[in-house]
Amino acid sequence: MRWSWKIGRIAGIDLRVHATFLILLAWAGLASYQASGTEVGAARGVLFILALFVSVVLHELGHALTARRYGIPTQDITLLPIGGVARLAYMPKDPRQELRIALAGPAVTLAIVVVLFGVLRLLGLPVTRAQDILTSRGSFFSQLLWANVSLLLFNLLPAFPMDGGRALRARLTMRMDYVRATQVAAGVGKAFALLFGIIGLFYNPFLVFIALFVWLGAAGEAAEVQRRASLEGVPVERLMIRDVRTLTPRDTLGVALNHVLAGFQQDFPVVERDRVVGVLTRATLLEALAKRGRDAPVADVMETTFRTAEPAEPVERVLARLQECRCHTLPVVSDHRLDGVLTLDNVGEFMMIETALRSAAGRSTG
Ligand SMILES: [Zn+2]
Repeated sequence: MRWSWKIGRIAGIDLRVHATFLILLAWAGLASYQASGTEVGAARGVLFILALFVSVVLHELGHALTARRYGIPTQDITLLPIGGVARLAYMPKDPRQELRIALAGPAVTLAIVVVLFGVLRLLGLPVTRAQDILTSRGSFFSQLLWANVSLLLFNLLPAFPMDGGRALRARLTMRMDYVRATQVAAGVGKAFALLFGIIGLFYNPFLVFIALFVWLGAAGEAAEVQRRASLEGVPVERLMIRDVRTLTPRDTLGVALNHVLAGFQQDFPVVERDRVVGVLTRATLLEALAKRGRDAPVADVMETTFRTAEPAEPVERVLARLQECRCHTLPVVSDHRLDGVLTLDNVGEFMMIETALRSAAGRSTG
């Protein structure tokens, strides 16, 4: 995500924070300072937001670690002022898995609520009324408890991109096909957005902001699923480029450079005796050229650990692999022999064409 920075790593997943989140922290400090008139009050406000976001990170970890159980990696978790986003490499096709991943986050939040309630009881502190979080009365833990309760309820709304929306889609997928289920769930999400928007206009401008967020989330999810549906069941061999320039380990970087300048490819499989032994990416090539000159052999700089795809594999799965390793090209290999390459541009172009054909077909049939 743009405008976000990595602040750490937790359970092997990058934790990022969005620039707008820092604005929220500053606002919390200022608002608490104005309300209390003391630096301690301001610090408490900032601390409260930080504690709330620890809750959000735990919630997102609930999603991420459940997804991991089904073999789905998470690219990163980003903190935004409206909450967190765990970016899964892909969504599972099995609706029962999607349902469990969607509900794991709210389950964690529920556990936090229970723990906070227990802490308050143990300390003998009163659990203040829900309204008191707005007037910042009540103890720190009590406020945190209510903030987590609202987080829980908000996330369970059956509207994209909230967890409730995903759970709804998963339930619908058990009865109809995935694209249709997404459209229905997105429709429900938009209806909620409209309702929030109208109520917000009269009562609370923040609700209008949330409505906008829900509306965009619903529309975005539906479009993305539509786009991905075009890849469904398509094997790698239908998309891959067969006419590929290759290098040998003894070729010089100068030879590779000439291939790039002639506009053949960006990344090159390195082949020796019919076996793929390495990959030379454009980035590696340029870096090596600067350090070692044109005469260095490809064998010295190529990457020897690289990921591959098989011709019969579904493109969807390989796309997730491409995104995960942040590479641009994957050699398509059967039995160590090179059959072709699959690039991100390839896949993108295919999806664009398929989506265009689909909408054309949709129009002609009304
Ligand atoms: Zn969630």
